[in-house]
Amino acid sequence: MSIHDFIKKVKNNEIDIVEHTQKVIEECKEINTEYNYFNTISEELALQQANNIQKLIKNKDKPLKNKKLLGVVISVKDGICVKDVESTAGSRILQGYKPLFDAFVIQRVKEEGGIIIGKTSQDEFGFGSFSVNIGVGYKVPKNPIDKERSCGGSSGGAAGISKKASFPHISLGESTGGSIAEPASFCDVFGLCPTYGRVSRYGLIDFGNSLDKIGPIGRTIEDVALLMDVIEGYGKNDSTSLNVKNEDYSKYLKKSIKEMKVGIIKEAFAEGVEPEVEKNVYNGIEELEEEGAKAEEISLELPIKYGLATYYMIGTSEASTNLAKYCGMRYGISEKLEGSFNEYFTRVRSKNLGDEAKRRIILGTFARMAGYRDAYYIKAMKVRTLMIQEYKKAFKKFDALVSPTVPILPPKFSEIEKLTPLQNYMMDVMLVGPNVAGLPHLNVPVGYEKNLPVGMLLIADHLQEGKLIQLGSAVEKGK
Ligand code: GLN
Repeated sequence: MSIHDFIKKVKNNEIDIVEHTQKVIEECKEINTEYNYFNTISEELALQQANNIQKLIKNKDKPLKNKKLLGVVISVKDGICVKDVESTAGSRILQGYKPLFDAFVIQRVKEEGGIIIGKTSQDEFGFGSFSVNIGVGYKVPKNPIDKERSCGGSSGGAAGISKKASFPHISLGESTGGSIAEPASFCDVFGLCPTYGRVSRYGLIDFGNSLDKIGPIGRTIEDVALLMDVIEGYGKNDSTSLNVKNEDYSKYLKKSIKEMKVGIIKEAFAEGVEPEVEKNVYNGIEELEEEGAKAEEISLELPIKYGLATYYMIGTSEASTNLAKYCGMRYGISEKLEGSFNEYFTRVRSKNLGDEAKRRIILGTFARMAGYRDAYYIKAMKVRTLMIQEYKKAFKKFDALVSPTVPILPPKFSEIEKLTPLQNYMMDVMLVGPNVAGLPHLNVPVGYEKNLPVGMLLIADHLQEGKLIQLGSAVEKGK
């Protein structure tokens, strides 16, 4: 049943929303024993919300008529704060932290009648591409199509449950350098990372403040457009939130793509892309052409050549600053106060942060150090500006740019173990460009190869999410 039909039924009181939510929670628990998509299942909150909605429906409450998510269950990446529900961004250092407030996006979901079912698993603080860099004591989520493989990251749990759930459901993910599109690609679902600032970051546990974006992951493009409709908008508590007019994303679902032009990023199809991936992405481009779009090759050197270096300088610098506040005093875990503050902080952080978090703190602190700042961080910021200029030039000619989302098929855990940190970082080669430039991008599932899903990446100019939905919808229809 589509979410659209589901909401209609809920409004007509044809579905007992409490019973439905109970079933959903049972299914989530069951799935979780095998796949580890949730760090927390928020049963109590979900049933409480369901009961409230049910009462309002019974009383034929008028305002319910316009609710965009009435009764629809939403899962939330662990790094997004939900009031009274443990929110740890997948890190033991935040264990026990129950926010006193809802993130902006959660407020919006609740206002529209959405039901929060839990916090999904992720790489610790978002540091990874396979959801294997999990915090101490957490479990690795598994690919819904093949349990021996990764479901991508860092929003791995979000993408996994989006594919696996048998019930109408949409997920909230977060991307700093690709963490929405990448897991969506590995799990055969749509993932939309909006323009930086389009969705307020208030209540998001920061990774990199100049990079983080919250966005929807869902089985259909319609689901993704619907959740975007709900979460977009200016939030006064986020100084980087854009004060622009809200869009109606759903209206792009049926728009023709005739006259649209897509640029095929030449450098993105160079060596390193698995032939199976390349073939399927070209099939996706053909779908676009069949629906009337024009495709042409374009050279875009900077993002592929310098994107990773730029991203990891900026990302780790910002992350190292953000993580300084987790020291066992204000949030989450604390221990017996012994020794000097320095000794105490060191003990808590050594014990409760995972390896990748430590690596990034060290890298980022180094890049920001007096004497190195100009050589690394400031230089990366300059390259970032050049990259934005290169994209902007391309968007004068094209409505969207296309590349594979990830160069490889979802790897086995045994293969990931063999990768060096640098090879790990290489996974994001297609994705860091649009993330560094704050550009909206969308993963569109384009096919299966060796029984594994392939995703195509569409990138649009700032605030042009509508075009992505339009193109994504055309591919979905064509399939
Ligand atoms: N894989 C990237 C990283 O490890 C992106 C993570 C993200 O977008 N949160 O930084």
